[in-house]
Amino acid sequence: MEKIKLKKVATKRVKEGYPLLVKGDFLSEPKQIDGRFVELVDDQKQFVAKGYLAKQNKGDGWVLTTNPKEELTQSFFERLFLKAEKSRNTLKLDESTTAYRFFNGEGDGLGGLTIDYYADYYVFSWYSEGIYTHHELILKAFQAVIKDCLGIYQKFRYDLKGKEQVSHFVGKEAPAPLMVLENGIRYATYLDDGLMTGIFLDQREVRETIREHYSMGKTVLNTFSYTGAFSIAAAMGGASETTSVDLANRSLPKTKEQFEVNGIDAKTQRILVMDVFDYFKYALKKNLSYDTVIIDPPSFARSKKRTFSVAKDYQKLLEEVIAITNQNGVIVASTNAANVTMEKFESFIQKAFETSSTRYSMLEKYTLPNDFKLNPHFPEGDYLKVCILRKK
Ligand code: SAH
Repeated sequence: MEKIKLKKVATKRVKEGYPLLVKGDFLSEPKQIDGRFVELVDDQKQFVAKGYLAKQNKGDGWVLTTNPKEELTQSFFERLFLKAEKSRNTLKLDESTTAYRFFNGEGDGLGGLTIDYYADYYVFSWYSEGIYTHHELILKAFQAVIKDCLGIYQKFRYDLKGKEQVSHFVGKEAPAPLMVLENGIRYATYLDDGLMTGIFLDQREVRETIREHYSMGKTVLNTFSYTGAFSIAAAMGGASETTSVDLANRSLPKTKEQFEVNGIDAKTQRILVMDVFDYFKYALKKNLSYDTVIIDPPSFARSKKRTFSVAKDYQKLLEEVIAITNQNGVIVASTNAANVTMEKFESFIQKAFETSSTRYSMLEKYTLPNDFKLNPHFPEGDYLKVCILRKK
């Protein structure tokens, strides 16, 4: 295997467990960064680790093992999948939940690949062309271990130069929609329709707490609602009324469908295709206010009228939300922006309430659920932050 020399700082970092290789880690830049397995050595040519080089938005490659005896063969990947399967055993046995993250990249020992489980189908997401060059080996290892798989789809989360972002990989094609369960609630998913499936699996615990604690008899506003998953959870938890607001046209039929597969007449709920910032203005003018408001914007969004970024604009967004939340009402504030830490996020919250001359208390905090397994040496992987607040 080709040996690549690491600089001293990178050697130290890799030895301490950091899994990502970044530009500048190498004593001389490798000529090609194309997915191949390499042995990483220090400036004295002593073994440090084995990994692969690949251009990904995050860096230039991933460390796979610091054990010199470990070979990067099919059985290496089989061991990773076996371990991943074991650690999801509780979810697997839970019949009321049939969709979850099965394999979480570097958290499960292989940066650049995630695998989600959707009711006997699996969705592979490849994050670089480099890791994709190993797809046959990885698939063989997966199939040797995983026996409950009817079919696999793959999503390509890198620049494909015109190729489709999603394709059927092997096995049976999934029905469209494919029904999954999450804590007993049904969600219609589409595995073959772009990068998103209809549900964000990382919010499972937040949907559950919304249903259990913040819905009964409440008026609920769900902003940036996508397919309305939070609204469905609220309605199932006894919300007296839900309002879902999203800019995308597709959100209307998708949200209707999610209500209806749960036996709720979508006509009894409000579903609006519009910019949330326009909705806030409208709500103020009409004196509308809510008991529970959910905000889960994308990290960055550009619409005809404005650009929004969590890092710059979350505080402002919260101020608008505080204005239409009832006293003693609850705000579920969420972000998946990796560049905003929990401390920073809490400082936005504090400032927004200060500016609004309103007091609040923190009821609950959530980060990623256990199936989104983290590498303890890679805190950047812990992107989800959810704070549940009571307006006083
Ligand atoms: N909260 C959702 C996921 C949100 S994804 C869930 O848990 O399922 C982000 C959504 O924000 C997308 O559906 C996108 O269409 C929507 N969006 C982005 N900018 C918006 C804006 N200014 N107003 C309304 N919706 C917006």
